[in-house]
Amino acid sequence: MRGSAHAVLGAAAGFIVAQKVGANPEDVLFLTGAGVVSGLIPDLDTGGKLANRISVSNKYLNAAVRLIGILLGCYAYFFASGMDEYISFIGAFILLFVLPQFSKKFMLLLSGVVIAVAGYVLMTIWIQLIGVYVMAASLLAHRSYTHSLLGLAFYGVISYHFAADFPINGLFTACVFGYISHLIADMRFIPGNKKRH
Ligand SMILES: [Zn+2]
Repeated sequence: MRGSAHAVLGAAAGFIVAQKVGANPEDVLFLTGAGVVSGLIPDLDTGGKLANRISVSNKYLNAAVRLIGILLGCYAYFFASGMDEYISFIGAFILLFVLPQFSKKFMLLLSGVVIAVAGYVLMTIWIQLIGVYVMAASLLAHRSYTHSLLGLAFYGVISYHFAADFPINGLFTACVFGYISHLIADMRFIPGNKKRH
């Protein structure tokens, strides 16, 4: 399934959770956004076997890495200070402008390292865990662990720590449901899934 379709499904998952918890308008936006990001994350792995589609996947992966770079930059700007802010901005710069030049797999591995180091510097456990998640994804086959219950469980742990940092009702559920929406949409019985992912 295409990235755009996953984004829409993730948004729907986040939006439904927001309605269920009776979120205010800003939180609806935040929860929907969390659903979108969560709905895209399982495809942060490499598709080495699918060489003929690398250009398309690469475009999507580049966009995902840049998005994380932007998020890291925002985090540095709004939450970090002093040395942490400085290092986070360098990390964001690498994710935005340096990594997209390299090969896909190496780029992904290095992105994971940059994110993990940034998380360590910021002393934020969920950023460190995302780094580990991405590193593992870069080393394993496409649609293996990120598209499994193990990947879901790992993302659940990340979401738990993420939700603990942002006191928004339903955030954990929105993240997990966004992720689940991706796994369901990628299942074989959905038409068109043999060609796309
Ligand atoms: Zn997928």
